[in-house]
Amino acid sequence: MTHIYNFSAGPAVLPKTVLQQAASEMLDWHGSGMSVMEMSHRGPEFISIYRQAEADLRELLAVPDNYRILFLQGGGLAENAIVPMNLVGRCAGSPTIDFVHTGSWSGKSIKEAARYARVNVAASGEGEQFTSVPPQASWRLTPGAAYLHLCTNETIDGVEFDFVPTVQGAVPLVADMSSHILSRVIDVSQYGVIFGGAQKNIGPAGLTLVIVREDLLGHALSICPSAFDWKTVADNDSMYNTPPTYAIYIAGLVFAHLKQQGGVAAIEAINIEKARLLYAALDADDFYSNRVAPANRSRMNVPFYLRDETKNTEFLAGATARGLLQLKGHKSVGGMRASIYNAMPIEGVQALVDYLNEFAGR
Ligand SMILES: *Cc1c(COP(=O)(O)O)cnc(C)c1O
Repeated sequence: MTHIYNFSAGPAVLPKTVLQQAASEMLDWHGSGMSVMEMSHRGPEFISIYRQAEADLRELLAVPDNYRILFLQGGGLAENAIVPMNLVGRCAGSPTIDFVHTGSWSGKSIKEAARYARVNVAASGEGEQFTSVPPQASWRLTPGAAYLHLCTNETIDGVEFDFVPTVQGAVPLVADMSSHILSRVIDVSQYGVIFGGAQKNIGPAGLTLVIVREDLLGHALSICPSAFDWKTVADNDSMYNTPPTYAIYIAGLVFAHLKQQGGVAAIEAINIEKARLLYAALDADDFYSNRVAPANRSRMNVPFYLRDETKNTEFLAGATARGLLQLKGHKSVGGMRASIYNAMPIEGVQALVDYLNEFAGR
């Protein structure tokens, strides 16, 4: 098989050992005679897969007992509607949702939420082309807001929060962590809701994780589809309707793999080193540039530009020839982007750094 490193932003690289295990269990899971894909979601085999996946995720993120973990569908984008449909009903009158606009994904969240409630953009990095997180001292938060929404890692702009904001009173903090969940240690108790699509750092597309504090359940608007009412989903252990069973199985293998590697703190240390290596190569001289403020540079998604953009095609062709794949930047921002999720080994980052140096003639 050709040896490649896949820098795709998502769907993205998965641990090789996980794929090998899935391959070996594809036709016959643990002597059941069935593929996981063929199992009833209510049968004892799949229930055991589901329970183990949930328990491992709870352990990895130290999710407190008063939080529920939901396995949903619809991706991060559907959550942009599902979150307001579940949370604005807690507030009397016509509540306001506060947002911090740090890039493309929080921008989409703002647009979608505006269909269900009043939105207030408490701060925006747009004036600086989304190259930093506006400092909290500059945010204009709404007293009694329904919640405060952040995208803690902007996948396209490569901007990652380096702090958890303090919220006023009982305003829940909602975080879209699609592209960096499980990449760093977090304190779940600081959030009301954490959500993320699985296809960046967890597993296959089709699975969406929601971690929600129990007191936030039970307020869904009547227009909310029952299958997306978090209380209904929680009361049915994510099996109100058929969950994405195979995606949950693969995610479970990824969680077990992360535990074997020493958990989130251990993978975070590796992620810090990977990001250090890559940014150092980009910063070595002005052949390449990354425009994000150093404190907010994402450890997972690293957009960069060639000083001479007429060389973009040549750069990408050379990368492909070396097995360094999917480095083209998102169409909305151009340039290049290297996504270096948990499953990207440090050897892959080193191979990219070697190529960056070679291409720059260093
Ligand atoms: C990819 C991504 C999304 C959208 O996910 P879908 O599964 O395509 O809906 C939302 N938010 C962030 C931060 C993302 O990286």
